[in-house]
Amino acid sequence: MAALDPALAEHLDATQVARLESYFDFLRIPSISALPEHAGDIRRAAEWIAAELTRIGFQHAEVSETPWHPIVYADWLHADGAPTVIVYCHYDVQPVDPIDLWTTAPFDPFVQEGRVIGRGAADDKGQLHMHLRAAEALFATRGRLPVNLRIVFEGEEESTSASLPGWLEANRGRLGADAVFISDTGFFEGNVPALTETLRGMLYTQIDVVGTPTDLHSGSFGGAVENPANALARIIGDLKDRDGRVLVPGFYDDVRPLDGAARERLAALGFDEESFRATVAAGPLHGEVGFSVLERIWTRPTLDVNGLWGGFQGEGSKTIIPAHAHAKVSMRLVADQDPDDLFEQLKAYVAQVCPPGVTASVKLLGTGRPVRTPMDHPVARAAASALEATFGRPPVYIGAGGSIPVAAMFQDQLGLPVVLMGFTNPDDNAHAPNESMVLANYETGIRTICVLWDALGDGTFA
Ligand SMILES: [Zn+2]
Repeated sequence: MAALDPALAEHLDATQVARLESYFDFLRIPSISALPEHAGDIRRAAEWIAAELTRIGFQHAEVSETPWHPIVYADWLHADGAPTVIVYCHYDVQPVDPIDLWTTAPFDPFVQEGRVIGRGAADDKGQLHMHLRAAEALFATRGRLPVNLRIVFEGEEESTSASLPGWLEANRGRLGADAVFISDTGFFEGNVPALTETLRGMLYTQIDVVGTPTDLHSGSFGGAVENPANALARIIGDLKDRDGRVLVPGFYDDVRPLDGAARERLAALGFDEESFRATVAAGPLHGEVGFSVLERIWTRPTLDVNGLWGGFQGEGSKTIIPAHAHAKVSMRLVADQDPDDLFEQLKAYVAQVCPPGVTASVKLLGTGRPVRTPMDHPVARAAASALEATFGRPPVYIGAGGSIPVAAMFQDQLGLPVVLMGFTNPDDNAHAPNESMVLANYETGIRTICVLWDALGDGTFA
């Protein structure tokens, strides 16, 4: 197994105090991407990072302009014969509201009970800072890196990454690499080291059902004219059966079947379904029959109505046949489902099941592709080995029911495998008051990153 080079260990042990000061300096910049009054802080954070990258030993460090917040790029490409990895993190943070629930000022970080408390401590400035310090340790002890790195640090992640797709396209020429390494995820429950293997994608639609040009009197016309709200309810009923299976023809055709080994790995996580249910005070859990909760959330697609309206919504009664009715319907997708293909299949199916007398149309509101890391890829295997070498136990492989849009952008636009390894603790309060990073995760994680780059550089995982 890979191990931490003693010279690196010594350097990192000797620089801990300065490292924490630098971490705090970085967190003190209120780089909130959503709020226009913080645009200057966003730029200040980008410039701070670019200066650090240059000082450490990277080349071509640049605050690269986009239509909105800049992306920080740098590279170091002199490890002949070694792989090239794009490292992605983001330096913007969420707004701090509700401010009165913070026990201290969000941009005045401090350490309490082994945790760094402050906005961005975990998501994602803490992890970005870990990558800076790991590279710094390598440059300081050897004057070089064991692998070729291209740094891409974004400033709009918390605000939909609007500029990233265009920037990736425009910079394609300098983004050649073997893999993308994203540190914007975290450990599993119990603070267990984890690699994120799957992220679900998304197909978001709106179904509009139209009958007559205006509402009709339900006494004069009820029973003789099709009601768009009734028709919409029937269409929705036809989208999914009572066993939780989506009925759109072809919906499951490209879903990768879950093999026995994968199911055993998920079962071994010992996920507590009852406490999952209890945290949201839900009734008995319901989902696709034949699958556990983790299997449903991480490995199976689903379909949900997110909003539903039409007809009279006020107090009391109004006897009408509404002229139209509407629903927002979204689908969470898994590899290798294609949202564009599924949209066409959904449209055809809705047209087929729509009752006569009304017309139904389906509008596309958004898509995101599912992501799946090939865990036999050298970067993924080296990452697992580095986690085990530094945290003392092999990582568990987890998924996310939601999406990380940037992961899909890198995967789809650059056609590169994406490895998701992050170090935040599951109770990090990301996006919430009193965000925190377990200091031991931060410190050990820096060593993990060093071991990872060394393991990739020495060819062990070629
Ligand atoms: Zn993040």
